[in-house]
Amino acid sequence: MAKILVVGSINMDLVVRVSQIPKPGETIIGGDFETYPGGKGANQAVAASRMGGEVTMVGRVGNDDFGNLLIQGLVDNRVRTTYVIKDSDVSTGIAMIAVEPSGQNIIMVASGANAEVSAADVNNARDLMREADLLLVQLECPLDTISKAIDLAKAYDVAVVLNPAPAQHLSEGLLSMVDYLTPNETELALLSGETDMEKGIEKLKEWGVKNLIITLGSNGVRVVNKELDRHFPSFDVTAIDATAAGDAFNGALAVGLAEGKPLSEAVHYGNAAGALAASKRGAQPSLPTREDVENLIRDRNK
Ligand code: ADP
Repeated sequence: MAKILVVGSINMDLVVRVSQIPKPGETIIGGDFETYPGGKGANQAVAASRMGGEVTMVGRVGNDDFGNLLIQGLVDNRVRTTYVIKDSDVSTGIAMIAVEPSGQNIIMVASGANAEVSAADVNNARDLMREADLLLVQLECPLDTISKAIDLAKAYDVAVVLNPAPAQHLSEGLLSMVDYLTPNETELALLSGETDMEKGIEKLKEWGVKNLIITLGSNGVRVVNKELDRHFPSFDVTAIDATAAGDAFNGALAVGLAEGKPLSEAVHYGNAAGALAASKRGAQPSLPTREDVENLIRDRNK
């Protein structure tokens, strides 16, 4: 089995359905209240595990009920949690979300324990890193921690996938150590400082990004590296909720790459997994299994 290490965020999403987003000072009596496990790190870890990867997560939750539930959720999805620390000094990371019937939402995030994931936590997992086939990281934990994880991966010759979400400025030094960078269009613009996609791609190439894998929502994926510039059309599905499509994409791509598959095949996995996630409601519940992904690829090739 391909061994994947994920260093990243673990959140509980708290969702209230409202008829209208409240204005400052206003109280609104909402409808249903739901809690969903989330955080890009945890979502991608679950996505990779459902795709058949052997996944270990490095992260933190608070020593509270949400933390316990989130760890149990990871365990139920066969993600190893030995390196998930229960931090008694902070709360578990949460996102408070109000959603209108139109889908319009407001989101407030309290990073809590995710902001405490440290370079020392990564260092504690160095034996695992040495054994890993691939490191999968995002930007919801402190940048120093992510940098440390990437440094360590490079020291052990482990491939690195960085999903630069939410986008923030990254140094050329860091970008040049990433083997596969997976921005969506908005993140590409923010990272490169260019609104024109072609210019953005040129800049990131100049800055040493080896493989740029741009996710284009319902338009599929574009892959650019020294040898190729190829567009992969999306799989045709009835999309109802794109939440976690990016997470499904990254988890599936990571498993394909960690298994040593050619880049185009790993991108097919990601593309199919993203489409399947977009065709189901929710974040983690919508993440497909390996079987779902292989069936979709087989159907399209019929
Ligand atoms: P993010 O959620 O990070 O913004 P995207 O919206 O680009 O990422 O979606 C990630 C991937 O999921 C896309 O590259 C594509 O493979 C797949 N995907 C997303 N939306 C659709 C859709 N409507 N139909 C088919 N595939 C989709």
